[in-house]
Amino acid sequence: MVDTLTANRTRSIKKREFRKTENVRNVFIETYGCQMNFSDTEIVLSVLSDYGYNETSDINNSGIILLNTCSVREHAETKIFNRLYDLKKYKKANPDLVIGILGCMAERLRKELLENQKIVDLIIGPDEYRKLPDLLDNVIDTGEKGIAVQLSRIETYDDITPVRREGVSAWISVMRGCDKFCSFCVVPYTRGRERSRELESIVKEAKRLSDEGVKEICLLGQNVNSYKDDSNDFPDLLKACAEAVPNIRIRYITSHPYDLSLKLLETMASYENICKYIHLPIQSGSNRILKLMNRLYTVEQYIEIINNARKLMPVIGLSTDSISCFPTETEEEHEMTLNVMKEIKYDSAFTFTYSPRKNTKAYKLKDDFDKEIKRRRLEDIIELQRKISLEVNENLIGKNKDVLLESRSKKSIDDLMGRTDCNRPVIVPKKVSYITGQGQKNASKIFKPGDLVNVKINKVNSATLFGTPVI
Ligand code: SAM
Ligand code: SF4
Repeated sequence: MVDTLTANRTRSIKKREFRKTENVRNVFIETYGCQMNFSDTEIVLSVLSDYGYNETSDINNSGIILLNTCSVREHAETKIFNRLYDLKKYKKANPDLVIGILGCMAERLRKELLENQKIVDLIIGPDEYRKLPDLLDNVIDTGEKGIAVQLSRIETYDDITPVRREGVSAWISVMRGCDKFCSFCVVPYTRGRERSRELESIVKEAKRLSDEGVKEICLLGQNVNSYKDDSNDFPDLLKACAEAVPNIRIRYITSHPYDLSLKLLETMASYENICKYIHLPIQSGSNRILKLMNRLYTVEQYIEIINNARKLMPVIGLSTDSISCFPTETEEEHEMTLNVMKEIKYDSAFTFTYSPRKNTKAYKLKDDFDKEIKRRRLEDIIELQRKISLEVNENLIGKNKDVLLESRSKKSIDDLMGRTDCNRPVIVPKKVSYITGQGQKNASKIFKPGDLVNVKINKVNSATLFGTPVI
């Protein structure tokens, strides 16, 4: 394997000596969809940089445009087809421009993508990123289009060091694929079967990130709680990371209720640096719909997990995903979803309308709701969650929270954005003036991303908390 890679690399470098224009190796990459895709883009950039390809943020100065795509809902795919239509003008201006589609859509829609607008040169599925440099070389040198979409049972990109963008937080992808086969979901078909990295290699990556100054790591997987290497499960991995990097925050995403064990909750409760936050998609409040979705839990079992979590961690952030208008969902079943949301009182929720996906089991069921019902049921859920989020946030007014500052606020250059341990976004002023105890002099303190500050919450809306650092 290593020999083949070395040979490929030598061949690749030789070929490049013949290329004329410099920007032929500049790669402009756009990422769509979930965190796994953003994490995969970091892997792709690492693979490419080993072969002398450089990332550019200037699309006009790129010889290669890559779109890392998502297939989860139809809307995500429509966005890519629209983007391809936009990209036609770049290809027209520069016929040598290489356009590649990576990720889930590449896996699912190979032919359609090649035929659409006739501008796509490369189609690379999520388990084939190691082939990207060779396929790029080939299309640049010969004009031949390339497709690589084999799914793997072993590929985890374990040996690749992702190219991270500057920032306070970093992702570590700990497992790939999904074996759950929820009846509505394309992920098991586009990302293949579950496979996990070795615990030691993940812990090593966490330590390296900590040494580089990262303040928070997020362990990533489509179904992260089913992580398993030869002798360790997900709680073992979480514990090992918490002990290896005690001074940085650790999060994980996404959980499936079936795999969220009591052992995991106890591990979370035992370590201060494991964030008290769980994103636990419920999807529906009806057991009949959950069964049709092949979700493998009942509402009662789901609520038991939440109760155990709250017992062990009285201050915990909870969020969820819901799908409304799944085929055959009745008005009562829609109400059941609203009732569970009222009972649990999530901090936030990602709410979707069911999107039929070809080849999934649910695709055989009729998606026959009229548009108006779809719109109204989704709005019911959004509006209810907005009220709950506001209520949850209002209860935080006057309280002090430790906030890890992440970045500049999008709305004001004078403010910074950070997150509580429970994942609530908080806006704080960058500069705080105060009067010193000794001599009663005026002083000020300037905060920056990466600082962990204690903040008194003084204002909220349904999405965000606002506060002042306590000095
Ligand atoms: N693995 C996670 C889990 O099981 O909860 C979620 C991963 S999925 C990419 C993110 C969310 O997209 C799901 O929780 C679900 O709510 C939503 N989703 C997936 N397929 C969908 C579909 N066909 N229509 C609407 N929403 C969908
Ligand atoms: Fe899709 Fe279900 Fe797997 Fe989540 S657990 S990625 S929803 S199949």
